[in-house]
Amino acid sequence: MNQTTTNHQAKDSLSFLNPAAPEPWASFIEQIDRVAPHLGPLAKWIDTLKHPKRILIVDVPIVRDDGTVAHYEGYRVQHNMSRGPGKGGVRYHPAVTLNEVMALSGWMTVKNAALNLPYGGAKGGIRLDPRAHSRDELQRITRRYTSEIGVIIGPEKDIPAPDVGTNDQTMAWMMDTYSMNVGCTATGVVTGKPVSLGGSLGRHEATGRGVFIAAREAGQRMGVAIAGARVVVQGFGNVGGIAARMFHEAGAKVVALQDHSATLANEAGIDVPAALAYVQAHGGLAGFGGAAPISSDDFWLLPSDFLVPAALEGQIVPERAQQLRTKIIVEGANGPTTPAADDILRERGILVVPDVLANAGGVTVSYFEWVQDFSSFFWSEEEINSRLERIMVGAFDGIWKMATERGVSLRTATFIIACHRVLAAREQRGLYP
Ligand code: GLU
Repeated sequence: MNQTTTNHQAKDSLSFLNPAAPEPWASFIEQIDRVAPHLGPLAKWIDTLKHPKRILIVDVPIVRDDGTVAHYEGYRVQHNMSRGPGKGGVRYHPAVTLNEVMALSGWMTVKNAALNLPYGGAKGGIRLDPRAHSRDELQRITRRYTSEIGVIIGPEKDIPAPDVGTNDQTMAWMMDTYSMNVGCTATGVVTGKPVSLGGSLGRHEATGRGVFIAAREAGQRMGVAIAGARVVVQGFGNVGGIAARMFHEAGAKVVALQDHSATLANEAGIDVPAALAYVQAHGGLAGFGGAAPISSDDFWLLPSDFLVPAALEGQIVPERAQQLRTKIIVEGANGPTTPAADDILRERGILVVPDVLANAGGVTVSYFEWVQDFSSFFWSEEEINSRLERIMVGAFDGIWKMATERGVSLRTATFIIACHRVLAAREQRGLYP
């Protein structure tokens, strides 16, 4: 289990923040407004998607290792549950806000419906820097947060999972805390657990694998082969790191990487497995000798075939969208492109494979994990990967067709398919009372 609890400098954790970007919830609302004209009579229910179903704000106090008491603010937002229980990750990051968690929960509603998973959308987060806490402190924070949100989560209510700053160990603590509170071992309350505790084979790699599948499918339709392609990746964690490795294995040249600690480039192609091993040992790319440091501005100007933003939201704003020299953007992160930037990219003929499709591999295998936990019957890695492949390719096909038929972007096409499913469920269920 990887535990990012060593004492790296906290100062770098804010380096991905982009003050030029609109608030994430405003971006989500704009995306919803853009899909409304394509929904026919179901558009009368569109306001449902602008109002999260339930928002819980919790105080998370702990005794720190030095004996002082510290308080953290935590959230769980259940955006929509028309199609099933809430589903979505928990983020630990110093810039977490309610506004951000609301947007992330809305994107989960869209993502889960787009992939036709039987879930609504939810998301959680705590505003803290996980790199600035010991493993023991993170355990206490996680357990208290889980207890505080325990009233609204559960295997049939809302199922958290890892996101930025959390991992399989975090999920093990959440599962244990919830289980202690309800008096039985409830593996299905979270996904992304260690395999030894009811986790699924293939879950750890699933988001990166899905990003790679989405890139490959987009490349095929755009006449851009993966082998020999130039690839630029922002974020080198569970999503960007694994996607970069898969590009590398398929013969692409990863020419630049950026993480919280460094921005590096190598025209000859970076040895991605060596970079991953370096990060495993040192906690970040800073100091990796297999590529040269470049400025963040130069990073965005590098010519590439595929650009994979896999860090945080709000990275591609209009000014950057004007300058990018890439063919296909595959969104590993949630919300990396603002709506205004989307328009510019479309005018410039740069294809965007949206987050709600491109990074859906993670929650798809979370769904497999939850099904396996319920049935107490576990699948082979081959079975998981082949089912993931089938679901991702099927979703990509349907979304590509919708985009072509309606003459809209892949993002709007994904929102059309997803919102149609969510609002049809809303209408069929009817309003209570
Ligand atoms: N945090 C991931 C996402 O943004 C995975 C969520 C899940 O598996 O529930 O899609």
